[in-house]
Amino acid sequence: MTRSEIITELKNYFALPDLVCPDTFKTFGLKAWQFLRTDYLNTLLIVRRDILKSPMICNNYLTAGKTYTQRGLRCNLCEIVKEKSAQGKIYLSAHLTGCAGDFNVVGMTSVQARHLIIDNIDKLPYPIRMENGVTWLHLDTYDSGNNQPYKLFTA
Ligand SMILES: [Zn+2]
Repeated sequence: MTRSEIITELKNYFALPDLVCPDTFKTFGLKAWQFLRTDYLNTLLIVRRDILKSPMICNNYLTAGKTYTQRGLRCNLCEIVKEKSAQGKIYLSAHLTGCAGDFNVVGMTSVQARHLIIDNIDKLPYPIRMENGVTWLHLDTYDSGNNQPYKLFTA
């Protein structure tokens, strides 16, 4: 699929404000798709449509009018990022580079979601990383270089 085909299909499942912070959406509107990497968008589509087959709530814009703000793309104005900068700490989370989201999956726990993704890992075109031991599904497409289709990590 081309990038534009992926985005067109993703719009059936996600609103852009679910996937980027309010600062970004307010400034860039629909042009904010450009900040999300193609490998991430392709992965997200397959995970949502073909593997989990259930709504994935990120910045819950669609479900609750956006009470979460930092679960998708984070910009330099986002609190988590500002705090790291104020502390002089480097911060290169995949949330900053357009290839991560934290999700609640309707009808299953984060443990069940991770297991289901691992059971279907051969459907994914790129290596993924998932955060282990958290109550949400953190999914990103940083290639950990472990030569495996996925990596579980702890922050
Ligand atoms: Zn922001």
